[in-house]
Amino acid sequence: MIEIRNASKTYANGTKGLNHINLTIGQGEFVAVVGLSGAGKSTLLRSMNRLHDITEGEILIGGKSITAAKGKQLRMIRRDIGMIFQSFNLLKRTSVLRNVLAGRVGYHSTLRTVLGQFPKQDVELAFRALDRVNIAEKAYVRADELSGGQQQRVAIARVLAQEAKIILADEPVASLDPLTTKQVMDDLKRINQESGITTIVNLHFIDLARQYATRIIGLRAGGIVFDGPVSEATDER
Ligand code: ADP
Ligand code: ADP
Repeated sequence: MIEIRNASKTYANGTKGLNHINLTIGQGEFVAVVGLSGAGKSTLLRSMNRLHDITEGEILIGGKSITAAKGKQLRMIRRDIGMIFQSFNLLKRTSVLRNVLAGRVGYHSTLRTVLGQFPKQDVELAFRALDRVNIAEKAYVRADELSGGQQQRVAIARVLAQEAKIILADEPVASLDPLTTKQVMDDLKRINQESGITTIVNLHFIDLARQYATRIIGLRAGGIVFDGPVSEATDER
């Protein structure tokens, strides 16, 4: 599903964010990427969706090179990749429903989506997505009126409405309390199990990784220092 071949990322100021990464992630895996702050977790995730370009190597998504893709090809690959961020990245003053419908934008002409016109099937899909994270009753509430946990569940619903095949979640629970963290991680895990959606989650805490992931990738200074099943992961970093 995802193949990373000898990928490196050197930032404009010379900092090495990623250092010769090789990685293959299969469909349906639930992978946790762990490491201290600055280890390269975010750089790795952003590279997979090409939110930024890598400076060496190649990344394939479903057999297609996202590194080489341009224009429409790139949009088609990105359609399969749903992003979830620590800060939720919702349209704050916009209703929950419209936020979820934003996951459908790549499926229609730009003009229609700018005008906010989505077909009835999309609205139904958005409601089903909201149902799956138990938040459909908030559909007409403004996103910024929700708690952090609720906002993150809306972000998950947006990815579901997008019908993405891959979820990339960059520290999705870093700003949430323990109870809400559990709800959001439970949702991600359940969706992974129900839909077989490949899920890659950056986590600051190894405990959470152990609890939810089937595979843990440990990063340090932009390199992989551990890659294996949860049972083999120790506390050493
Ligand atoms: P993590 O997500 O594990 O905290 P990051 O991927 O954010 O780590 O950072 C990896 C390294 O790249 C760090 O040394 C960080 O300072 C550096 N870095 C991240 N973003 C930038 C940037 N835009 N410009 C320069 N250096 C960056
Ligand atoms: P969750 O368990 O999803 O985090 P909470 O129990 O924190 O939800 O929130 C309960 C209710 O309080 C929700 O209906 C939410 O709309 C409201 N609420 C929570 N935090 C805020 C906030 N910062 N601003 C506005 N409303 C909030």
